[in-house]
Amino acid sequence: MKLILLGAPGAGKGTVAKQLTAIDGSVQISTGDILRGAVQAGTELGKEAEGYMNRGDLVPDSLIMGIMEKRLQEPDCQSGFLLDGFPRTIPQAEALKVILNKLKIKLDMVAEIDVPRDVIFDRLCTRRTCENSDCQAIYNIKSMAPKKEGICDKCGSPIVQRADETQEAIGHRLDTYNEKTAPLTGFYKKEGLLKTITGTSSEVVVSAIKAELKK
Ligand code: AMP
Repeated sequence: MKLILLGAPGAGKGTVAKQLTAIDGSVQISTGDILRGAVQAGTELGKEAEGYMNRGDLVPDSLIMGIMEKRLQEPDCQSGFLLDGFPRTIPQAEALKVILNKLKIKLDMVAEIDVPRDVIFDRLCTRRTCENSDCQAIYNIKSMAPKKEGICDKCGSPIVQRADETQEAIGHRLDTYNEKTAPLTGFYKKEGLLKTITGTSSEVVVSAIKAELKK
């Protein structure tokens, strides 16, 4: 499947993407994960991106498009991909359209996961992430705590609160989403690709996406 997952930070895009990859081997491509990996590795990209990320601002479109143009041409994308956290601005969506046309790739659907702001705010404040950039497993201290406090079940690395998951940064990320990313729903509606799915459980959202893909 070739999908874009739209939705505010904390809407569950990453969790849904992971469940969908298990269905047909499509790869999850999370620009947030790629950027956090670059920050941890101390690469030029990471150094450029870190300040924006910690403030909860978007990284400039030019940096993101450089990453994605290369990533979409890697062989593992041929069997399908789930774009998680990209595109996030109208210029990114327009540039993606040009790349996909050039590569003769047709999207199946843009799934917007719609979750109320208060649920998202609560989820992000209690979210914890594995600090190992190759793992980045997600936990929640209220609803999905690791078996051993502070330690990732999957790889044994420490789990941490992300720098951009303080209350102040979360509020700013949600405002940025409303201002810069929410307009993408209009963009993809016009393209005839948008499906909006309302649901706070990843299982419900995954089932709804599967049902839409079968239509
Ligand atoms: P995420 O894990 O998707 O919430 O992304 C974390 C942070 O990475 C965001 O708050 C942005 O600073 C940056 N980021 C991720 N994806 C993008 C994108 N497509 N465009 C601009 N910035 C991005």
